[in-house]
Amino acid sequence: MSTIYRKYRPRNFFDVIGQEHIKKTLQNEIEHGQISHAYLFSGPRGTGKTTVARIFAKAINCENRKDSEPCNKCSICEEISANRSFDIIEIDAASNRGIDEIRELRDFVRFTPNHLKYKVFVIDEVHMLTTEAFNALLKTLEEPPSYAVFILATTEIHKVPETIISRCQRFDFVKVPFNQILDRLKIIIKKEGIEVDEEVLKSIVYRSEGCVRDSESLLAQVLSLDSKHITLEEASLVLPKTQLATVLQFISHLLKKDTKSAILFANDLVDGGLDLKQFIFDTIEILRKTLLLKSGINDEKVFWEIDKENQDKLNALIKDVELLDLVNMIKEFIAIQSTSEFSEIPQLPLELAIIKICSK
Ligand SMILES: [Zn+2]
Repeated sequence: MSTIYRKYRPRNFFDVIGQEHIKKTLQNEIEHGQISHAYLFSGPRGTGKTTVARIFAKAINCENRKDSEPCNKCSICEEISANRSFDIIEIDAASNRGIDEIRELRDFVRFTPNHLKYKVFVIDEVHMLTTEAFNALLKTLEEPPSYAVFILATTEIHKVPETIISRCQRFDFVKVPFNQILDRLKIIIKKEGIEVDEEVLKSIVYRSEGCVRDSESLLAQVLSLDSKHITLEEASLVLPKTQLATVLQFISHLLKKDTKSAILFANDLVDGGLDLKQFIFDTIEILRKTLLLKSGINDEKVFWEIDKENQDKLNALIKDVELLDLVNMIKEFIAIQSTSEFSEIPQLPLELAIIKICSK
């Protein structure tokens, strides 16, 4: 599934989509030889943080750099691209949280690079480090040797200690705009020699919410249909589908302000192994459609995945509902969209949202 992502992973700054201001600043630093010792890349997942980190590591070490771009041909570029360089270390702090890894890293920093100009340490999800590990890292950041470059990446900047942040040059990655992801998907399908209807691509981009990686893995699912021309109808077989009946049932509990039924219903779904994030997304999506329907918009492009029977059900459901009630419901669900996956009790944010909605 991730083959598309690997195959088309950008190998130079030019190919990275979005993040214009970040690319420009980094490229300027490379061209003028003004490399910092510590960078902090923060921002949502799938927006290019580790991709840019790797390109940066390549560019500052490449033997035939062209302006600020790595050549991707020399042995150094090839080694780094293939993840074979001893001087480029990537640590995933989500699975290596402790002080041992950071101590190891400190030891590693002490020795000059094997054969590269710079040793580059990429620490992904750096906010996951333990306090002791942060302290050890801080010591290293305070007196880095001239050949060491640290790139810390995080999706949760608020969990990174201020002492660390203040030692780094900080870059905030943002979600990639709809049209830029759409254009990228178009380039990929062209290279793959497969025709995919525009509506399919738009639906993929919409679902990936600014995350390039998600858009590529959804595209990979669609391409796995192994057809030369993929239509919306075919694509709907593999794209994550709205469990329409389930979502409609859930919404009907909410509209009746039936807190108990809504919570029990949601908990049953979670116990049944439901992907909570997808469910919340689908609920928002259906609520948005009811909002449009209620506002007199009945565009085929909006309702392509809802058949006539379910549209009728939806219509009956919202007949007596106030527009503002729907707006409030959507707001509550949007507020919990990003929190659910990080909560110790995954369904808690959803339960709180249900209680708020039903007590309004
Ligand atoms: Zn090179």
